[in-house]
This record gives sequence, structure tokens and C-alpha cells, in this order.
Amino acid sequence: MGKVTGFMEYGRLEEGYKPPAERLKHYKEFVVGLDESQAKIQGARCMDCGIPFCNNGCPVNNIIPDFNDLVYRGDWKNAIEVLHSTNNFPEFTGRICPAPCEAACTLNVSDQAVGIKSIEHAIIDRAWDEGWVQPRVAKHKTGKKVAVVGSGPAGLAAAQQLARAGHDVTLFEKNDRVGGLLRYGIPDFKMEKSHIDRRVEQMTAEGVTFRTGVLVGAAKDPLGKGSKVTNWAKETISPEQLQKDFDAVVLTGGAEQSRDLPVPGRDLDGIHFAMEFLPQQNKVNAGDKLKGQLRADGKNVIVIGGGDTGSDCVGTSNRHGAVSVTQFEVMPRPPEEENRPMTWPYWPIKLRTSSSHDEGCEREFAISTKEFIGEKGKVTGLKTVRVEFKDGKLVEIPGTEVTMKADLVLLAMGFVSPVAGILDAFGIEKDARGNAKAHTDFTGGYATNVPKVFAAGDIRRGQSLVVWAIREGRQAARAVDEFLMGFSDLPR
Ligand SMILES: Cc1cc2nc3c(=O)[nH]c(=O)nc-3n(C[C@H](O)[C@H](O)[C@H](O)COP(=O)(O)OP(=O)(O)OC[C@H]3O[C@@H](n4cnc5c(N)ncnc54)[C@H](O)[C@@H]3O)c2cc1C
Ligand code: SF4
Repeated sequence: MGKVTGFMEYGRLEEGYKPPAERLKHYKEFVVGLDESQAKIQGARCMDCGIPFCNNGCPVNNIIPDFNDLVYRGDWKNAIEVLHSTNNFPEFTGRICPAPCEAACTLNVSDQAVGIKSIEHAIIDRAWDEGWVQPRVAKHKTGKKVAVVGSGPAGLAAAQQLARAGHDVTLFEKNDRVGGLLRYGIPDFKMEKSHIDRRVEQMTAEGVTFRTGVLVGAAKDPLGKGSKVTNWAKETISPEQLQKDFDAVVLTGGAEQSRDLPVPGRDLDGIHFAMEFLPQQNKVNAGDKLKGQLRADGKNVIVIGGGDTGSDCVGTSNRHGAVSVTQFEVMPRPPEEENRPMTWPYWPIKLRTSSSHDEGCEREFAISTKEFIGEKGKVTGLKTVRVEFKDGKLVEIPGTEVTMKADLVLLAMGFVSPVAGILDAFGIEKDARGNAKAHTDFTGGYATNVPKVFAAGDIRRGQSLVVWAIREGRQAARAVDEFLMGFSDLPR
């Protein structure tokens, strides 16, 4: 523990944001990270708890008290060693993780949590600047070949761990660039894509082969007829071919099937899934020319769904120049503050206002859409009704029907499951929610019912968080290494 009295002397310091008027003009990151002396003071606030709840609250079990202390002492080089020992990509989580570690921090019971995420952000950015992040090439090659299907955080983590264990890894991605939802879901203003590109460079030097534009699945309608799932594949490889060519296969294809809203009028023009809207802007930011980009300029936009994806649609619509942006959430407005002694160390339900909300957005809670209305085939509005909980069920409140104006409706109501056709092509057994069925126990974890085929990340657990995907990718890599070699030195 760096400073015994630090938690009494110093308050929590938040990272800064550039003002909305300035950041709305571009798609670049706008968070101003802590400088060295600020990070040092945040590190000094850590109490080095006997039972560090932060470490347990963090899905990758980051060794948080140790790196807090190292930053306090100015030993940044060892701080990145500690951070990298549990997390392959702290620059992703240091930017976009909701930080369940901070909800679990002991200081959060009666005071303000240690700014763990801001310290993580400062450590990894410094490490890149100093040139401390270098390829770690395996000393011995095993001669075993592993295919990883899907290049999101789960696939990237699995591929990096397996390459470092000496296996010959090929990562297949149906889209034209690597990164999964980091690349084509999360907007650039939350995470610029150069962070993915330099990891691809590092992993290439470590021996990973990246094959983009290659879909692994059935030759005909692999994603289902008329699918709206992003797919820029130019080539398809059958699961049989992959199983023949590789000693093990890790499926990390995510949970891409968006939840729909099948109410009357759904087929009108101007109603789209968030995942039709967001990837297009990321492509344009990357320099691609798109014909007829789906844009919000001059439109009244209604985003249905109150979560992160919805908030990303709000931020993107405002950058396009929407006339108005309204976000619907079917659940009632949560309290501003949680009851900490009741909820700690778990993730609390409370009102979360994102940077995109601060840029301009009307938020409607306890509202449900009954019908889309339109003229000449185009959406012009939504018929809505207020809802409330009665006997544990959400019911409509009579007499509260209202029509709201909309020229663009974005559906951001989450994702139901992975694309069934992908799992079916491999003959993978599914759980009750349609995810790939595989447990996560120490022995035999992440293995599916199909011999030598493993599954990790959202494709196994359902739509979740980047940090959970990294955890699953790392753990699945260890399971695969054990399966191939009979033992594994990879951490779990
Ligand atoms: C808009 C949006 C914003 C989000 N914001 C956050 C956030 O701020 N913080 C956070 O922690 N989480 C966030 N999430 C959730 C997070 O992005 C996901 O939980 C995480 O990316 C899952 O990682 P994954 O590797 O399992 O899958 P994904 O990231 O979904 O990657 C799967 C990849 O596999 C590819 N693929 C699928 N099938 C095949 C196939 N058959 N052949 C070849 N390739 C295939 C896909 O094209 C995709 O690139 C967000 C999600 C969305 C949609
Ligand atoms: S719970 Fe909070 S105060 Fe305790 S070790 Fe973790 S970060 Fe430090």
C-alpha cells in the first residue's frame, strides 16, 4: 500500500471530457486521461484491502491493488507488466469498460471508488508511448494448428494466448477488418480503431495469421435468408474443411442476432437495427466510400432501447446533425443513486447518463411502442403507450397513448443470440437461449459437443461486455492448449 492515509486525504478525480460543442464536430476520442501526477494521487487512494473486492468484481481479475501501488510509486513499467498478466488489451477496457471493479471497490461503500479504470487507461497509454508493448514471440513452436473464427475481443485474446503458447494460429473474420464489435459496433468517439490496428501488428509479429473477408459456415444462406447481420465476406469456408485443416477450432463469432420489434408498420422505410446504422459510420471514418449511407441529418430520430448500443446511436445521430434525438426505455426511470450498503459489491441499478446523452437527447422511460405509422411507405411516427409494473408484469396504462414524430427509428433492444445458422453448420448443441452450449469449469471448459471445437465470448454467454469476452478468450485458449498438449502453462 503506497500511502496509508491516501484515501482520507484525496478525493476521486474523474477523467476530463472535451466540451460537447467541440466534440460533436468529429468522431475522435474526447476523454482527457489523467496525467502522471493525477494518476499517482488516484493510486494513493487505494487501501490495499485484505480482501480486494475490486479484483473479484473484475471479470479478468486484474491485480488492481498491485498496479495502484506501482503507479503511486512511479514504477509504471512494472505496472504494465502486472496489468498485462491478466488482460491482453487494457487499452480497450481502459476506454470502454463500465468498470464493475469500481462498483466492487471497498471505498465505494461509504465514499467514492478508486478511479481504477482511469489508472488502467493511464498505464497502458504510457506503455505504448514508451515502447514497452512489444511482440512476445513463442520460444518453441508446437506444430499444432488452431483456427479462431471471429475477431472480436474474445477471438483476439484467444488467438494471442494460443500464439504465445507456440501454436500456429489463423484468425478468420467475415468482415473486411479485424475487431468484431470493437471495430464495427462501438463508435470511434468511444474508441479509435488505431488501438485495434496496433494490436493486429503486434499479433502478426507473434505469428497470428489474419484472414478477413472469410466466412466460416454453410455455402448457402449462412446467416439466414435476408439477414441484416454485417457481412463483407468474399469467401466461404465450410466447417468440415476447417476441422480437416486444423487441430482445434475456437468459435468466437459473437451474438449478432438483433432483437426485433414486430409491431404493425415494422416494414416501413426508415426503421433500422442499430447494427445497420453504427457500422456504416465506422466504415466511413475508416475512409471507405459508401453509397447511400444511412444518416440522421435533418431527421427526428427515435432510438428504441436504453442501453449502451442505444446511447451510441444517440451520439452518432447528433454528430450527423439530427434535428431531435429521443431515446426510449421500456423500464421505469431508475434512481439517481444506488443504496450502496444494499448493492455493494455488486453492479447497481441506477440512472446512467453517458457522454452521448450529455450531447443532447430526450430520454423517455416506461414507454412502449405499439405501432409504427407512416406515409407513402416511410415512417413518420410511433404510437406509444406508458407502461408500469403490476404483479411483476409490465402492463399498459390506459389513456396514455401518444403519437410521436420520427423520420428515423433505430432499434437498439439488444441481441437475442448468435446466428443460429453458424452453430447449426458445425452441429453445435445450443443452450435454452440459443447460445453455443459449453461450460466454463476448469476441466473440459469451453468445449462444445463437437470434437475439437470450442466456443467463447458472446457466442457462448450471450451479448455481454468486452472484458468478459477477453476473459473467455483467455480461458478458452488455456483449455485448447491443454487439449492439444495434455497440459498448459497459460494463465486462467
Ligand atoms: C453498439 C455496441 C456498443 C457496445 N459498447 C460496449 C462498451 O462500451 N463496453 C463493453 O464492454 N461492451 C460493449 N458492447 C458489447 C461488446 O462489444 C461485446 O460484448 C463484445 O464485443 C463481444 O466480443 P466477442 O469477441 O464475443 O464478439 P464480437 O465482438 O461480436 O465479434 C464477433 C466477430 O465474429 C465475426 N463472425 C461471426 N460469425 C463468423 C463466421 N461464421 N465466420 C467468420 N467470422 C464470423 C463477426 O463478424 C464479428 O466480427 C457493445 C456492443 C454493441 C453492439
Ligand atoms: S477494493 Fe478499492 S481500495 Fe480496496 S484494494 Fe481494490 S481498489 Fe484498492
